[in-house]
Amino acid sequence: MDPHNLYIYNSLTSSKEKFKPLRNNSVGMYVCGPTVYSNVHLGNCRTFISFDIIFRYLRYLGYNVRYVRNITDVGHLEDTGEDKISKKAKIEQLEPMEIAQKYTNSFRDVIKKFNVLNPSIEPVASGHITEQISIIEDLIKKDLAYISNGSVYFDISNYNKVDSYGKLSGRDLDKIKSNSRTLASQDDKKNEYDFALWKKAEKNHLMKWKSPWSEGFPGWHLECTAMSNKYLGDEFDIHGGGIDLKFPHHECEIAQAVGYTGKQPAKFWIHTNMLTLNNKKMSKSLDNNILPDELFSGKNEFFSKPFDPNIIRFFFLQAHYRNELDISEDAILASEKGFERLVEMLDRISNIEASKNNNDELFNQIKQWEKNCFDCLDDDFNTPMLIAEIFNSSKLINQIEKNGNLGHREKDYFLGLYDTLLSDILGINYNKSTSSDDSILEILLNIRDDARVKKDFDLSDSIRDQLNKLGVKVNDNN
Ligand code: AMP
Ligand code: ZN
Repeated sequence: MDPHNLYIYNSLTSSKEKFKPLRNNSVGMYVCGPTVYSNVHLGNCRTFISFDIIFRYLRYLGYNVRYVRNITDVGHLEDTGEDKISKKAKIEQLEPMEIAQKYTNSFRDVIKKFNVLNPSIEPVASGHITEQISIIEDLIKKDLAYISNGSVYFDISNYNKVDSYGKLSGRDLDKIKSNSRTLASQDDKKNEYDFALWKKAEKNHLMKWKSPWSEGFPGWHLECTAMSNKYLGDEFDIHGGGIDLKFPHHECEIAQAVGYTGKQPAKFWIHTNMLTLNNKKMSKSLDNNILPDELFSGKNEFFSKPFDPNIIRFFFLQAHYRNELDISEDAILASEKGFERLVEMLDRISNIEASKNNNDELFNQIKQWEKNCFDCLDDDFNTPMLIAEIFNSSKLINQIEKNGNLGHREKDYFLGLYDTLLSDILGINYNKSTSSDDSILEILLNIRDDARVKKDFDLSDSIRDQLNKLGVKVNDNN
């Protein structure tokens, strides 16, 4: 594959641009990670799965990718000005770090079930306070930040003399001003649209650190500038996150980084679109968030049966990452059916007997199909088009079944391609039911039969219920 055919939609320029790394074969990618004050919902997972595809494809193309995805454990404030993690710590009567650890662990567990690869570095905000303080000191020296009552704010009016604020989101200051939220400490600011780099902590605030200005804590936007700069340098290739982070979070990150280094931090900005439920954005603060584990175990009020993470991943990938996607039981059922068809298709080709003779014509057809598939990925990671193209290969399979002239070379190449596309790049497990799974299932069903014969109905019912939870239907004839 020629790695230089990849086009990525850049939110900064609102256009698809040819991707070329800044440094030879190495790619630096930073993605804003979760704020760990509660469980991640399916919408958050959709975003992390989208970046997992991007990470996997860049690696497939042969790039050496340093993927940094942070954990926000401090500084993300509620509209009232209260730190989200501190607030939850009070509610759950735990240490803030216990809250952060608890939800970091559950985030990692969930994301693993979705077959999302680990990033290269997963830095936490509270482990980078000194780096954040250094950036603030630098910005104050440059007159791009000012101290007010122990807090420090970024001075957007002064920044506008260096570069214009609002490039990414295309917002002008008047609009920002009229939309800016009223925080308790707004009086400290020179201008409504200035944002906090450091906040002086109230007496009962739980997470605070010493700084030259006050005992306090960093503003949320600053951590990503500090950690992306530390691990990827002044300039790096890709910065990503959900589209809801474009403003103000990413806009503020750009201003901080340009102020600090004099350079635009990321060449490409990638924004993923939202998962919705009944066409409303899924959100931690609304009552419409679906927890992945509830969906996997069939315990979610919106769904009548459990769904496998693999199917949910497949469902997500059937929409482009830049399009909104509405989740519903019918939509997932359609994906589940599609997935079954896909597995059947692969079984068909696997079961065709291959001969020793090569078939050059067929080999070329398979190579043309391969090109069509990679064209989809090269077009801004277009996974729905790719999946449609994978289904399209059934025409080739029909032809092979009809003509019966499949050589070993063609068969191996064809199956190898499916594996690369489905398993390595899309991260889909299409060999779900292995023979060892089937054997284990048979053993369990035999134990259940014995239990029923011995009238141990507690045990037999328990086996049935637990298998049902996994989506294996057991009736009493089994
Ligand atoms: P948070 O933990 O709220 O900071 O969010 C973590 C990531 O999930 C961010 O990149 C958000 O943009 C993204 N996100 C939040 N809600 C949704 C949603 N409904 N659909 C897709 N991504 C989302
Ligand atoms: Zn961020």
